Amino acid sequence: QAGHLLGAADIRRLADQAGVSPTKKLGQNFVIDPGTVRHIVRLAALLPQAQVLEVGPGLGSLTLGLLEAGAQVTAVEIDPRLAALLPSTVAAYMPQSVQRFSIVQQDALTVSPQTNPQLAQAPSLTLVSNLPYNVATPILLNLLERFNNLQSALVMVQKEVADRLVAEPGSKIYGIPSAKLAWYGSAKRVGRVGRNVFWPAPNVDSALVSFQRAPQDAAGNLHGSAAARDRTFQLIDAAFAQRRKTLRSALSDLVEPPAFAAAGIDPQRRGETLSIAEFARLAAL
Ligand code: SAM
Repeated sequence: QAGHLLGAADIRRLADQAGVSPTKKLGQNFVIDPGTVRHIVRLAALLPQAQVLEVGPGLGSLTLGLLEAGAQVTAVEIDPRLAALLPSTVAAYMPQSVQRFSIVQQDALTVSPQTNPQLAQAPSLTLVSNLPYNVATPILLNLLERFNNLQSALVMVQKEVADRLVAEPGSKIYGIPSAKLAWYGSAKRVGRVGRNVFWPAPNVDSALVSFQRAPQDAAGNLHGSAAARDRTFQLIDAAFAQRRKTLRSALSDLVEPPAFAAAGIDPQRRGETLSIAEFARLAAL
């Protein structure tokens, strides 16, 4: 077993051992293809001994690939049966790396510097994850909000979610996730993943998104300003809640009419045409 990544037979055996029959509710689709794992790890472009947060390690397919690449991995898994099995899988397949691995059984939506101080202490953190599909966007945005040291990410998500995360202003699918992610930095789609590399095969296609945090947030604050972010996100939520309306009307409760002129933004425009820098400018007034 030692030194090899998980294939289809390993996955079935480990699922049996954990007593898990994968559930849709938790987005449990496990990667059974070492080539896909190595591809994801390569795209993450990890520095030697990088500190990696992996959300939803499942049976360990990606975890073993990250350890193989020399990373220090903290994995957060919600399913207690999977969390309990993972240490013995790492010990069996990647015995030389047990010191670089830790697992927390927790809902990734609740992960914060308060509950997980060791993550906050890392000088630089990278998220590498095959995210549970139904909560992928909130997990990503929460982690970026809570961990200023989260510098980069390489995540696998449902293809439609990936398209929305990286969409540009003016496109039909530009929306709340695109604008909020752009607050923190830049994202791009870096690949597609077919259904047959998973067990069980999902009924959606997947895609890979790579993200780099910008040195300053979209309002120009070097270490990020929570107040500027909250106000900007308030305007984004309101603008997209009424997508077809002009900014003047969608933001009438939140923005005084003269602020539009001061920010150099035509109030007849719709929110779906505003870049994150424009939202931030309007929010600052
Ligand atoms: N990383 C594994 C792989 O690539 O084979 C599994 C990926 S699977 C798509 C998603 C994993 O996230 C499952 O193991 C599931 O139990 C876990 N999960 C689901 N919701 C979660 C949550 N809120 N917090 C942490 N883990 C979660």
